[in-house]
Amino acid sequence: MTSKLSAVKGMNDILPPESARWEWFESQVRELMRAYGYRNVRTPIVEPTPLFVRGIGEVTDIVEKEMYSFTDSLNGEPLTLRPENTAAIVRAAVEHNLLYDGGKRLWYTGPMFRHERPQRGRYRQFHQVGAEALGFAGPDVDAELILMARRLWTMLGLRGLRLEINCLGQAPDRASHRAKLIAYFEAHAQQLDEDARRRLHSNPLRILDTKNPAMQELVQGAPRLLDELGEESRAHFEGLQQLLRASGQEFSVNARLVRGLDYYNLSVFEWVSDQLGAQGTVCAGGRYDGLIEQIGGKPAPACGWALGIERVLDLLAQAERQPQAPVPDAYVVLAHAPALPRALQVAEELRAAGLAVLMHAGGGSLKSQMKKADASGARHALIFGENEWLAGEVGVKSLRAGGEQQQRSVPLQPHSLLIDCLSGA
Ligand code: ATP
Ligand code: MG
Repeated sequence: MTSKLSAVKGMNDILPPESARWEWFESQVRELMRAYGYRNVRTPIVEPTPLFVRGIGEVTDIVEKEMYSFTDSLNGEPLTLRPENTAAIVRAAVEHNLLYDGGKRLWYTGPMFRHERPQRGRYRQFHQVGAEALGFAGPDVDAELILMARRLWTMLGLRGLRLEINCLGQAPDRASHRAKLIAYFEAHAQQLDEDARRRLHSNPLRILDTKNPAMQELVQGAPRLLDELGEESRAHFEGLQQLLRASGQEFSVNARLVRGLDYYNLSVFEWVSDQLGAQGTVCAGGRYDGLIEQIGGKPAPACGWALGIERVLDLLAQAERQPQAPVPDAYVVLAHAPALPRALQVAEELRAAGLAVLMHAGGGSLKSQMKKADASGARHALIFGENEWLAGEVGVKSLRAGGEQQQRSVPLQPHSLLIDCLSGA
């Protein structure tokens, strides 16, 4: 026997019945996006590597150690499996001049790839839903995006997600903060881990984002960017807070919230759960007013978020929201082989009328076919036997537990009779 092949470590198959939960979640997301006027965008899974290096920032976890990058063997082009999708959405918007007539509200969903240590809530192929509002300066749109996520939690029946917000200010605010931050960390150099030491002069803000428990105390005592905000940044942040309060949305200001990507400015936010262990951030985002220009577009403000689908589904599973396996309306049992063409035709007519019909395949006795019909969860068995075939009828048997198990014969013409019968009329 040849040896078995398995999926790449950290990359999961999503199988029935779990996939039903995914489908349900995706349908809720589509409904959400429709309600807020966000339009769907689909970009390639592979992008030129410089897009992410430029977009996400050279000194970030993602670009330094998490990207699946390779060289196209045909033309030598450096390519990367997308680790996130904001940079690609911006690339597409710039490439196709989407902002020519004003701001655009866009959304996406799909797999992302990061070479991380696999654990609960952290995979190498994972999935995100993202919403991006391009061309709007906020803070009204920042609030809209946050409230949109809140509505999704409500639609999904999820409780207990906390909102944390922060303001990263503008470049001058960050420059004065940066100087203080470097001085502070230099004064505590012996407490810095390797990553922090390396980032001290290239990207000290990133140190605040550390996951190293040994550095938390040091980070807690660091100078706060919030204390360096200029007039304009403060007004923006205050504006967002007012809108959130007016919408009855509670939040806490977390001065250490800096986000793992370089492109953010002004508002940043995270929705956090206490039910997911170490991987508690379910949805994260913020404003990235500089990114569009950085990717070669005309300067325009933007804001967005991305949520981790696996983490949301973990919460749904804990809330015991069982995936609803799709139930066929009918299972076709073929007790008389020559009836097959007619059975196929009837199944097609029923499907055209919106019913879900499972055809028995693989032959077998009436008894074994009835067992399969039961096991399928179908509401009815449609039995094509010899007598029915001669009479132009079909046997209909309710398979519902508690329902009467009598079989009755229903004429095939007009087929509305059968459709009514199966629709529970
Ligand atoms: P973390 O701090 O958990 O590493 P991040 O800041 O790297 O998250 P983002 O790039 O902001 O994450 O991605 C947005 C969301 O996508 C996260 O809040 C999380 O829900 C999800 N996510 C990120 N990385 C992974 C992963 N490797 N596996 C599963 N979900 C992930
Ligand atoms: Mg990460």
